[in-house]
Amino acid sequence: MKILFLGTGAADWPKKEEKDMKAGERRFSSMLIDGKILLDAAPQSFAFAKRLGTDLSEITDCFITHTHSDHYDKQALLAFAKECGGLRLHLHRLAVERLGLSDAEKALFDIRPMGIFDDARAGSYTVTACSANHLVENSPEQPLHFIFEGEEGKRYLLGGDGGLFTARTWEYMRTLQFDGILFDATVGDSDDDFRLGTHNSIPMLRLATAAMRRGKMLREGATLIATHLAMTLHAPTEETERLFSALGITVAYDGMEIEL
Ligand SMILES: [Zn+2]
Ligand SMILES: [Zn+2]
Repeated sequence: MKILFLGTGAADWPKKEEKDMKAGERRFSSMLIDGKILLDAAPQSFAFAKRLGTDLSEITDCFITHTHSDHYDKQALLAFAKECGGLRLHLHRLAVERLGLSDAEKALFDIRPMGIFDDARAGSYTVTACSANHLVENSPEQPLHFIFEGEEGKRYLLGGDGGLFTARTWEYMRTLQFDGILFDATVGDSDDDFRLGTHNSIPMLRLATAAMRRGKMLREGATLIATHLAMTLHAPTEETERLFSALGITVAYDGMEIEL
């Protein structure tokens, strides 16, 4: 699996135009998998992908983790869909109304509503929807993480927003082994941040990675990645990278390409 990060920031980063972005700044979180599968259509994702010169014509599927405005932007989604001539769109069944698509816009999509533990096919993967420990206010939807399983048996958890796992997701994950895990890393090295019910901090990821290692949930050489970092809750870059590196976690940045 090859991931191109089109954004790695949490919602507190300023929503800038692409021409105003400076090195080291983060856009809202989304990514492109194998050049074919989009995970979240964040507001700046399309413009950044174009700036990188990415070929978007091969995209077939988009998975939406939840409809917070830093992860779902209708204009970005439409721009991707027009570029590749239409998309299969996978999202929680109670999030479909929140897309706000007109009938004409819906014609660009094959909408595939998902329930918890439902499977979808995308590229060479079977993708399973799992509940994320997160909440969209005033929406009945269940935010999702997605488990991607490739034909060769490799398995990846690609998370959206969410604090440490819901009971259902964790108990399911405990029966599996992973080659890669993407963590919500919104909060920095803080023990007492109120977001612990909806996002992770570094101390929470220390617990999670230790339990995963002891529970043999990580395969040899598994790649752990931190993304969705808040601008206001992390130390300067070098210190942040040192803190995550001590946990065996790589910190993602906008434009990073990684092979898992
Ligand atoms: Zn977010
Ligand atoms: Zn969110």
